Amino acid sequence: MFRRSGVVSAGELESMGLVPPRERLIRGAVAVTECIEEIPCNVCESACPVKAIRVEGLRGRPRIDWDRCTGCGVCVGVCPGQAMFLLDLSRGAAVTVPYEFLPRLRRGDTVELLDREGRVVGEGTVIRVFEVNKTQVVTVSVPENLLMEVRAVRRAAR
Ligand code: SF4
Ligand code: SF4
Repeated sequence: MFRRSGVVSAGELESMGLVPPRERLIRGAVAVTECIEEIPCNVCESACPVKAIRVEGLRGRPRIDWDRCTGCGVCVGVCPGQAMFLLDLSRGAAVTVPYEFLPRLRRGDTVELLDREGRVVGEGTVIRVFEVNKTQVVTVSVPENLLMEVRAVRRAAR
């Protein structure tokens, strides 16, 4: 289906085994990959400080060892395809996304929550920000039912 629409769905990711189980999500932030195009890249694999990402062969899809992953977010910042995210259900629901716009976001900012197609699906608050190679890695609180939908944020117009 994503081959036709260009946008992968939560259901397709689930069927590819790319969604961590709820038991892992409630233990804390964990990386998820939506890198499904089988491109020759392994930047995330090289950058992961605990070797939790494995890319088989030249064009393999990255697979993440969710038990090994510490949720540090480095892979979110280094991925050139903006295809890495963190999900967290340990204290409410939170999604971590890459952000490369100006002005920079800060903790406490209100942002619009965007789905994979760029549609506004709600509003959230920035709860953590750090930077990797000039890319901001931004964690936002989200309603739990949007955990598998929010994959970008936009500064809310005020
Ligand atoms: S979040 Fe950190 S530990 Fe987890 S896969 Fe990404 S780089 Fe590795
Ligand atoms: S760095 Fe990004 S684009 Fe490259 S393999 Fe990892 S997830 Fe895919």
